[in-house]
Amino acid sequence: MDCDEMLALIHHYMDGGLSQWRHRAVTKHMQDCPPCAHEHHYNLSFKQVVSQKCTEEAPAGLRLRITAALDSLPTSEVPLDLSSGRDFLK
Ligand SMILES: [Zn+2]
Repeated sequence: MDCDEMLALIHHYMDGGLSQWRHRAVTKHMQDCPPCAHEHHYNLSFKQVVSQKCTEEAPAGLRLRITAALDSLPTSEVPLDLSSGRDFLK
């Protein structure tokens, strides 16, 4: 696993959405790669702050704009995180 792969998987890693071997590969990469470990900790604290402070719902207009913007992209260009967020937004 290299850093790019690791960064592509990090959100799924945090959400527990990875298969066991991928989860292990990410964990191992972080042990060997301090910059990625740092990134992971940053993401974790960011997530924590968001879940504590951002308890408001997104305004409907914004939600629609995001959904429309995502729908206008070819599926291949939507990052993994966003394509799974697509159903969530609807
Ligand atoms: Zn790395």
